[in-house]
Amino acid sequence: MGAIVIDGAAMARQVLCEQKDAAQRLAARGFVPGLAVVLVGDDPASAVYVRAKERACREAGVSTFDYRLPATTTETELLQKIDALNSDSQVHGILVQLPLPAHMKAVSVLQRIDPAKDVDGFTWRSLGALLDGHALLAPCTPSGCMLMLERAGVPVAGKHAVVIGRSSIVGKPAALMLLERNATVTICHSRTPELATITREADILICAAGKPRMVTADMVKPGAAVIDVGINRMPDGKLCGDVDYDAVQARAGWITPVPGGVGPMTVAMVIANVITAAERLAA
Ligand code: NDP
Repeated sequence: MGAIVIDGAAMARQVLCEQKDAAQRLAARGFVPGLAVVLVGDDPASAVYVRAKERACREAGVSTFDYRLPATTTETELLQKIDALNSDSQVHGILVQLPLPAHMKAVSVLQRIDPAKDVDGFTWRSLGALLDGHALLAPCTPSGCMLMLERAGVPVAGKHAVVIGRSSIVGKPAALMLLERNATVTICHSRTPELATITREADILICAAGKPRMVTADMVKPGAAVIDVGINRMPDGKLCGDVDYDAVQARAGWITPVPGGVGPMTVAMVIANVITAAERLAA
C-alpha cells in the first residue's frame, strides 16, 4: 500500500491562493504587500530560487522589488541598501538570498534587516522569539514542514519527533516548532552515534542533513511521517532528497517527495510571511 504522499506543490498552490485573498484585502485598504529581493553575485542556483519566489509573489498579488547587485558589492554598500529597504514603506519583507560572496559576513548582513520585515525569519530577534514561543516571522522551511504535517492530518502532540540536522535555518527551528506543538523532540547531527536506533523510534522524522538518500527504509518506524527537507543535486543533474524515497515510501505512513515537497512549501511560506508582515505594518 505505501505511505500517503504529501504533495507539497499542490499544498503550496493552496497556500498561495489563501495568501492572494489576504493580499487583496490589504490592497483594498491601500496597502499593496511588497517583497524586496536582494541577490548579490551571479550564483545560478540562487537565481533559480529568486525567480521561484518572484513567481510566487506574482501569483499571490505581492509586488516585488528586485535588486541584483554585482559580486564586487562591498558589505558596507549592501548594509546601506538594507537600511534603505528597512525605511521604505512600500517594502514589507526583505529577503537577502544566500549564499553571499565570500568577502561578506552573512551573519552581520542578515542581522541588519528590520525584524518586522525579516520574512526569512533568520534574525536573532526572530529566532529568539521562536525560542520563547512567540514567533514574529518564523523561518520558512520549518514552518512549511509544520503546515504540511498539520494539513496532512499527522498527529504531533505527544509523539516522538526526530530531526536530523541542527542548522539555525532548518533543524533547530524545526525542533522548536515541534516542541511548541507538544512533541517530544530529539535532534541528531553528524556526531550522533547509532543514528538508526534513534530514527527508528520516530513517529515524525524530519531529515535536513543534505546527504542524498541517507535515510534508508530500515531507519524508519513503520507508519511514521517522513518529511524530507534535503535538496541534493546528483551527477546526472537530477534532484534527490535525504530519503531513499521508494523504499521508505513502502514503509512510512506519510512521506514528502523531492522535488515537489518541502521546496514549494518553503516558497509559499515566504509569501505568507510577507502578508503577515504587511498586515502588522498596516495595522
Ligand atoms: P547545513 O549543512 O547547515 O546542516 C546540515 C546538518 O545536517 C548539520 O547539522 C549536520 O551536522 C547534519 N548532518 C550532516 N550529515 C549528517 C549525517 N550523516 N548524520 C546526521 N546528521 C548529519 O544544511 P541546512 O540545514 O541549511 O540544509 C539541510 C538540507 O536541506 C540541504 O540539503 C539543503 O539544500 C536543504 N534545504 C532545503 C530547503 C527547502 O526549501 N527544501 C531550504 C533549506 C535547506 P553537524 O551540525 O554536526 O555538522
